[in-house]
Formats: sequence, C-alpha cells, structure tokens
Amino acid sequence: MIRFGLIGYPLGHSLSPILHTAALRACNLQGDYSLYPVEPNDLPSLRDVLNKIRTGELTGLNVTIPHKQNIIQFLDELTVSACTIGAVNTIYLKEDKLIGDNTDAPGFLTDLNGFLKEDTDLIEEKDEKSVLILGAGGSARAVIYALQNAGWAIDIAARRIEQAQRLANRHLRVIPYDSFHISKLLSEIQLVVNTTPVGMSPNINASPWIDGLAFPQGAVVYDLIYNHRETLLVKQARVSGLRATTGAGMLIEQAALSFQLWTGQKIAHNVMLDAINETDH
Ligand code: NAP
Repeated sequence: MIRFGLIGYPLGHSLSPILHTAALRACNLQGDYSLYPVEPNDLPSLRDVLNKIRTGELTGLNVTIPHKQNIIQFLDELTVSACTIGAVNTIYLKEDKLIGDNTDAPGFLTDLNGFLKEDTDLIEEKDEKSVLILGAGGSARAVIYALQNAGWAIDIAARRIEQAQRLANRHLRVIPYDSFHISKLLSEIQLVVNTTPVGMSPNINASPWIDGLAFPQGAVVYDLIYNHRETLLVKQARVSGLRATTGAGMLIEQAALSFQLWTGQKIAHNVMLDAINETDH
C-alpha cells in the first residue's frame, strides 16, 4: 500500500488528490493521497506529519502554501534546486534521510517548453530570449530558477520592489509594477509569466495585466493560475492575438515528477489531464 499526502493550509480546493489517485490507478498501484491541513504556525503538527514518512506510514508528501519554506528546518537534506529556490514542494525518504525537493521549477519548464515548441519562430530566431515575470512571491522563485537555467533574460514587475530585489542578481532586473515601466519593455519581451494570484477563482473577473496597456506583439503568455479553465489574462492575451495558456500543465508536470520520485513510475500527461478535466475547476 502506497500512501502520499499534502501538507498546507487551507487545502479545501486542492486538485492533488485527483491527480495522484488517477496516477495510482493508471499504474495499478494500491494506495491513497490524503490531505494534512496544518495551520501556518503549528510547527509541532508539521513535525508529526513528517514523522509519518520516517516511520514508513507515508511514502512521501507534497508541501504547499504556507509551509514550502518553514518545513525546511525539519528536513535532513535538500536537493540543489530546492536549496537554490529556497522552497520545498516534495519530500521523500532516502537512506533514512528526509529529502526536500522542488518539482515546481522543472514542472513549469517542461510545460512551458512544450507550449513554446509550437512556436518555432520564438525559439529559433532570437539570440536573447526575454521574459517579463509579474509578481515576486513563492512561485516566482521557482519560475526564475527554471528560466535562468534555460538562458532567459528576466525582468520582474513587482509592487514591493525591495522584497523583489532580494531575488535579484546579475541576470535579473526588477521594475515597478506600473504601466510606465512595463510599456518601456514591451518591444523586447517574448514571454510574459503571471505568478500573482490575480484572476484566481473566485476572482475570475480580475487580470494582472494593467488596464489599457498593450500586450507585447508576438509574445506568449503563461499564467500560473490553474483553478479557472481560462483566466481573464489568457482570454485578453488571445483576443490581442497572442498564444496563451494557464498553469494546469505545470500543475500536472510537477505532480507527475513528485509521483515519479515516490514510485519510480512515469505518468503520461494525459492521465492527469483527463482526471482534472472531469472536475469543474
Ligand atoms: P505568493 O507567494 O503569495 O506571491 C504572490 C505574488 O503576487 C507576490 O509577489 C504579491 O505581491 C503579488 N501580488 C499579489 N496580488 C497582487 C496584485 N493585485 N498586483 C500585483 N502583484 C500582486 O503566491 P504564490 O505561491 O507565488 O502563488 C501565486 C499564484 O500561482 C497562485 O494563484 C497559485 O495558485 C499559482 N501557482 C500555480 C502553480 C501551478 O502548478 N500551476 C504552482 C504554484 C503556484 P506582494 O508581495 O506585494 O503581496
């Protein structure tokens, strides 16, 4: 029997049980995926759930907001990506050590690359690939790690400049999240990635793209939000003639990578995609 779970708070709308149950079924594996809601400052409960891996009661855990960072103090080792990003979303036991990994970054890059492949002009014709990232929170860190390793030049638009500048290094510029500064970049940008929660259900009539600002022509828009089938940002970008996608593919890819770390089994993208398409997310 294989048992996994998710630590976070709140967890009411998580799609992870649906994704991992579909994966278990596709692999003919007996098991389940449970939710462990742990309130933000409840560190003893965090430690209790982690002990379930040490004792063999659980095979592995996913971690989500608000514990991606504060769980690190209870782990024995981090992978290079988790350490550089400073956040963990997957935990497993290896040689009696609790290992923290981060599958958000490779999950994002795999899905992005699949989406960009359909746009060969973007990949082949540009020497310098430039991306504008909206927001500088937890998921932005994984996105930055992935895009930097893939050679993208990065601009981040953030409303709290000082906090965003902590992510900054020589490959990365931080600009204020306003029309004046973003419009100056538009001619350079081939990709826009939204890492803010603006437009997430139930606020589906909100968009992180500033009202009245033109979209960069010929660019691709990737919205990390997945809990609405077509976010307003994706709709606006498509109306302006841009290719755009939500983060459902990233959600699937990061889950498939976690599942592989726990079971050694590779899951076809469509197994998880069909499972979430059956929901009304
Ligand atoms: P987070 O850590 O709270 O960061 C959110 C960022 O967005 C912060 O920089 C925040 O700025 C900024 N922001 C919030 N509201 C804003 C507004 N109205 N205008 C401008 N900036 C605003 O959240 P997160 O963990 O990065 O998650 C962000 C979104 O990504 C969520 O919708 C989440 O569901 C999605 N996500 C998707 C996947 C996937 O697999 N597809 C994975 C991870 C996350 P301040 O610091 O100033 O508040």
